[in-house]
Amino acid sequence: MAEKCDPLVTAAKGPTKTYPDTQWIRSCPALLPAKHPPQMPPAHPFDYVGSDADGDKLHEECGIFGVVGVSDAANFVALGLHALQHRGQEAGGIVSHHPEQGFNSVRRFGYVRDNFTSPKVMETLPGPLAIGHVRYSTSGSKGQTAMRDVQPFFGEFSMGGAAIAHNGNITNANTLRRELIERGSIFQSSSDSECIIHLMARSMGRGIPDRMEEALRKVEGAFSVVAMTRTKLIGVRDPLGVRPLVLGKIGDGWALSSETCALDIIGAEFVREIKPGEMVVINDKGVQSHFPFRPQPSKFCIFEHVYFSRPDSILGGRSVYETREAIGRELAKESPVDADLVCPVPDSGTPAAIGFSLESGIPYAMGIIRNQYMGRTFIEPTEQIRNMGVRLKLNVNRALIRGKRVILVDDSVVRGTTSRKIKEMVLDAGAAEVHFRIASPPTAWPCFYGVDTPQREKLLAATMSEEEMRDHLSVDSLKFISLDGLYRAVGEAGGRNAKCPQYCDACFSGEYPVVPADMMDQGFEMKPAAE
Ligand code: SF4
Repeated sequence: MAEKCDPLVTAAKGPTKTYPDTQWIRSCPALLPAKHPPQMPPAHPFDYVGSDADGDKLHEECGIFGVVGVSDAANFVALGLHALQHRGQEAGGIVSHHPEQGFNSVRRFGYVRDNFTSPKVMETLPGPLAIGHVRYSTSGSKGQTAMRDVQPFFGEFSMGGAAIAHNGNITNANTLRRELIERGSIFQSSSDSECIIHLMARSMGRGIPDRMEEALRKVEGAFSVVAMTRTKLIGVRDPLGVRPLVLGKIGDGWALSSETCALDIIGAEFVREIKPGEMVVINDKGVQSHFPFRPQPSKFCIFEHVYFSRPDSILGGRSVYETREAIGRELAKESPVDADLVCPVPDSGTPAAIGFSLESGIPYAMGIIRNQYMGRTFIEPTEQIRNMGVRLKLNVNRALIRGKRVILVDDSVVRGTTSRKIKEMVLDAGAAEVHFRIASPPTAWPCFYGVDTPQREKLLAATMSEEEMRDHLSVDSLKFISLDGLYRAVGEAGGRNAKCPQYCDACFSGEYPVVPADMMDQGFEMKPAAE
């Protein structure tokens, strides 16, 4: 049930202490294993199977949302997080602030709809200011999220409390953590995001926004942050703007969100994207904006256009759906093939398949049907169940496929395991030919900026050429969109600027806009400059 706790402070100082500007206390679930065991997803055979098709995908790490200036802001945040659930399903949390009742927090494993719909829970999150976070762990306790890693994180400072929710990945977190621990910081989580709170604690800045600014100047990598004090909602994007963050207006209040689709659900009007390197501080006087970091060319994650963001969101002034359709058109121009049907690998391949069909004139059909009621999970059951794999999530529409030359359009190939199984299913259903068309270039490099990717050697494209991948998947043809084609589809008419790429495309090109310092310490080798 609902709890009231300080994620970072309570565990260190004991469960009965009251903090200056809060009544921030007692029953942090991480501290109460007997009465309140962590609500991990249930062990059920479908759990693993449901994850199989998604397990061969890249995963966005987090979604963040914040609202100020409306009554019961936490209700709006719960709705916003629900709309952002595709960005993280392992756990979620909300912190709210009420002028009399101080800061309150609820953090839970599992879906937003299962944890933040009960009036009993939401009543414990009163006030006109709240932020929230949904998580798919990449750093921290990967795959087995510990409650202490669930955000938002909270810190108590001399000038009051602050909560923070982070989307992205800090590429120098190990170094920062080591230095902070040497200087006396006591970490409560394994999350890289906690560094920000400790850096703020060490700052001499007068106010919390100043401290946050100073802390974030020491951080390298990708970050979009939503934070709150007692009176302010704060949003920041890293200088390269790798991860998204948008501003919305709701009545007299304001909202910050990873994506515009979450503004729609609460009836907020999309105002604009927070700019790379921008910090906005929002209170009852409105939105103050400034740029505390050294200006750098923007490097927004191009994969947000391909896969991570929802198709009903707006990125760069254009609907994601439209962009994906343009990717499909580009793919059809670059890699045409004589066939009878264009079928998406649901759901993320759908807009690109429609674009491919429109450009090529080959009929579009739902040749593969997705069971919408399979959740994604983390439990591995018996070998027998595991062997059913993708079939329990995706099923071939045999009546459509039999005897046809089929083009399957998917958003990406990561390990290739799912593509292989899908090809087998389509051939089993009687297809005459199977051609894969992929709406992204070959994923040959891991992402270190807040996306869960396998180690490089596990990426099919890291070890095989396109022809070798085609043979490995045993399909009649396999083609990926080119990097230039992808850039054109996202609106860069001249394609990719090789000297200064307009986006981050490191997972395709191996050109990392921020040196992944921690990973290099662990032996990761960047692509040689001349390659
Ligand atoms: S490496 Fe790929 S997934 Fe990661 S931020 Fe860059 S484009 Fe996005």
